[in-house]
Amino acid sequence: TRTRNDFQFVDVGRQDPAKKPLSARKREFVEIHDPYTQSEVEQQADRCLDCGNPYCEWKCPVHNYIPNWLDLAAEGNIIAAAELSHQTNSLPEVCGRVCPQDRLCEGACTLNDGFGAVTIGSTEKYITDTAFAMGWKPDMSNVVWTERKVAVIGAGPAGLGCADVLVRNGVRPVVFDRYPEIGGLLTFGIPEFKLEKSVMARRRRIFEEMGIEFRLSTSVGTDISIEDLLRDHDAVFMGMGAYTSMKGGFPGEDMVGVHEALPFLVANVNRCLGLEKDPADYIDMKGKNVVILGGGDTAMDCNRTSIRQGARSVTCAYRRDEDNMPGSRKEVKNAREEGVQFLFNRQPVAIVGKDRVEGVKLITTELGAPDENGRRRPEPVPGSEEILPADAVIIAFGFRPSPADWFDPQSIDTDEGGRVVTGEQRTYPFQTSNPKIFAGGDMVRGADLVVTAIYEGRKAAEGILDYLDV
Ligand code: FAD
Ligand code: SF4
Repeated sequence: TRTRNDFQFVDVGRQDPAKKPLSARKREFVEIHDPYTQSEVEQQADRCLDCGNPYCEWKCPVHNYIPNWLDLAAEGNIIAAAELSHQTNSLPEVCGRVCPQDRLCEGACTLNDGFGAVTIGSTEKYITDTAFAMGWKPDMSNVVWTERKVAVIGAGPAGLGCADVLVRNGVRPVVFDRYPEIGGLLTFGIPEFKLEKSVMARRRRIFEEMGIEFRLSTSVGTDISIEDLLRDHDAVFMGMGAYTSMKGGFPGEDMVGVHEALPFLVANVNRCLGLEKDPADYIDMKGKNVVILGGGDTAMDCNRTSIRQGARSVTCAYRRDEDNMPGSRKEVKNAREEGVQFLFNRQPVAIVGKDRVEGVKLITTELGAPDENGRRRPEPVPGSEEILPADAVIIAFGFRPSPADWFDPQSIDTDEGGRVVTGEQRTYPFQTSNPKIFAGGDMVRGADLVVTAIYEGRKAAEGILDYLDV
């Protein structure tokens, strides 16, 4: 057995996994971090104080047993660590890669007060990647199979979280998705420099072996009706995401050379994956001066994709200051390292040009009183307009849910923002106003995070199991 060094955090500083050289990062659509080695994991995981008040666990939306699996990883007991981490998380290898740890688990780590937080995310990723490489698979030998059938609409993190909990409890889910691969935005949104697509391909094999059936390239409402799903299944879970792009509401948004974020990112993914149907779908930033409007994870992904496509310059304009950006700090740092220029406190008021975009008119802002979410409102400074030249503009203002036209006939209530209403007034967690239909993830919360979608999918599955009396 290992001898714990309670002062490891003093002797050993926080060390993130090494990053690939910048010259390669600026060209390649591959993850930017090298994997940890076992000895690095032992050193880093051992820095955990096991402080007795695991704030990290509470700040983690799925409430991972973080100190416990850090301890197992530090001992080299990777299989036990993987078993434990899968008790609370359906996609730990994904969360380890894409969670904004600085705002979640690592932000709450006791050592984040001068010593440097434990590298929780990178260790979580290491545990699952290594366990899979060692041949580990979730143990399904004790599952008692039932005859209950549940349809899951959407193979994004919410749908996958739901299907994972259902199958482990003996209910074989059938997951429908309009895309040809599983993952939702993990596959058709988030670029490979954050999450390589082979990670989801491996996860698909594991899920299929566990007993989850995927019916891909099948859109519910077009290829199969919701009525058919309700007739053939005991319950339905909806994890259909949020896909209506927010507009800026200023002149010039429809000009040639102005693009929405998701079509730009998806076209790039399709080219990388060899799934491109028409080369005209690809939006090429090579040699262009690109301006990206927005400050969230989507904007960072557009910035860094443009760099890799060979843009001449990439400038990201955001209407608040750096401290008030909604995205992950680590991604802003990565973008800056790769050559993205940031203009803070700049709000777009128009896109200008004759036949096509030639620039963006920006106005300087000052931060005023907090809004209803507690974030300080940007207030324009009169007379501060400037024109930033641009050959291409990408609008990355976020997304809101888009309720389907079959919601009404099925009595599925939505709120004024288009979000499906679930919640406390219902009998089971994440049940909608139609008792047989449950929902979770971005279509319930509004566009948010991978880990919160997983959490809601898992909780909804617990609600479905209770509803079905399994
Ligand atoms: P989705 O992932 O959107 O999955 C919904 C699925 O439902 C899709 O596969 C869709 O095809 C399917 N679907 C919808 N309608 C139908 C239908 N009628 N029939 C069949 N299938 C249907 N979060 C992070 O935590 N970290 C990040 O770094 C991060 N980066 C992001 C970058 C980008 C560019 C974007 C857009 C988002 C990012 N997010 C990030 C947010 C995160 O991806 C989402 O919050 C999360 O994927 C939501 O999961 P979901 O399962 O609710 O929806
Ligand atoms: Fe941290 Fe996300 Fe992992 Fe939770 S799931 S421990 S928040 S990286």
